[in-house]
Amino acid sequence: MANSKYEYVRNFETNTTILPEVWFVVRLDGQGFTKFTTDHGFTKPNDKAALDLMNHCAKLIMSKTPDISLAYGQSDEYSKIVSIISAQFASNYTFYWSKFFPNTELRYPPAFDARIVIYPTDKHLRDYLSWRQADCHINNMYNTCFWELVKSGVGNKEAEKMLCGTNSGDKNELLFSKFQINYNTIPEIFRKGSVLIHLVEYFEVTTPENTLAKRMKKSVQILHCDIIRDKFWNEHDSLLQG
Ligand code: ATP
Ligand code: ATP
Ligand code: MG
Ligand code: MG
Ligand code: MG
Ligand code: MG
Repeated sequence: MANSKYEYVRNFETNTTILPEVWFVVRLDGQGFTKFTTDHGFTKPNDKAALDLMNHCAKLIMSKTPDISLAYGQSDEYSKIVSIISAQFASNYTFYWSKFFPNTELRYPPAFDARIVIYPTDKHLRDYLSWRQADCHINNMYNTCFWELVKSGVGNKEAEKMLCGTNSGDKNELLFSKFQINYNTIPEIFRKGSVLIHLVEYFEVTTPENTLAKRMKKSVQILHCDIIRDKFWNEHDSLLQG
């Protein structure tokens, strides 16, 4: 582009330097999804197709952006390390909607807000992810009880009242005694959310010259495992090596 006397304004774009040696977390969250999920007839409390669509969007972005080392999603939100643009997420969400909801017309354009947070140490980063996974667990337990009560004929207000002040033991007990549901058998995707990491696989192929050659295949893996305890981080020790 030709220089002009106006071009100096471009310098304003570069006056914020990215802090080195820190983690960047971008948290995306669907805007007004309480209404959006109702308007589009999502299964309550957990619409599996909707979570699959969220995971699909995150997976596509991660495969294009190797700098994102991990992504964690639950409900209508997605946390990503290193900045990505929320527009990419929204446009994937819209583009693949009909693949995940073949019988539901998308009634208006969905949007996701994004905030970027800097965490200076590995401990902060792990605590951040633990916070989101604990939030997933707490909300899912509450929502599972709430919707079981509603499905059994209890009114919304009444169900809220019944759950007010209950701890997780009470909720487990309620699910088990009233609805014969063992909370631990509910799918892990609902209880733990989704963890996306890069997977690098090496394998051997036979070349046309009949010799063996090593090949590498990169993909994004979707897990529904615990990320609060050390086990996950020990098994994937390269994640925190930056
Ligand atoms: P980046 O992701 O870095 O922005 P880019 O390929 O989008 O890369 P830009 O400098 O933003 O690069 O340039 C936009 C490109 O899109 C140009 O090649 C421009 O000619 C093309 N383009 C944009 N709008 C139109 C349009 N309406 N019709 C034809 N070409 C267009
Ligand atoms: P905001 O714009 O402030 O984020 P919101 O209405 O999106 O408002 P959230 O706190 O983000 O509020 O809540 C997300 C809503 O979307 C909750 O009501 C949740 O139950 C619903 N939701 C998200 N994902 C699913 C899903 N997979 N299945 C069913 N409901 C879902
Ligand atoms: Mg341009
Ligand atoms: Mg929100
Ligand atoms: Mg939201
Ligand atoms: Mg949310």
